[in-house]
Amino acid sequence: MAKQTDFAEKAKKASAERGIKCPKCGTVKVPTAFINSVKTEAGTYKFNRQLVQVCKCNEKSVYA
Ligand SMILES: [Zn+2]
Repeated sequence: MAKQTDFAEKAKKASAERGIKCPKCGTVKVPTAFINSVKTEAGTYKFNRQLVQVCKCNEKSVYA
């Protein structure tokens, strides 16, 4: 079990080092695919997939 914990900690640390730290909340931003439905002029909907950097500041608005 100790080995698994080590691995998890290392993976966590690695992603933390790669990520961008938010200067406001200090949380590492996690890139999350966010799908937006946008109404077109024709009245139909199309889906926009965008990558959003999620940290504590905006996680509530993103996951709501
Ligand atoms: Zn933040």
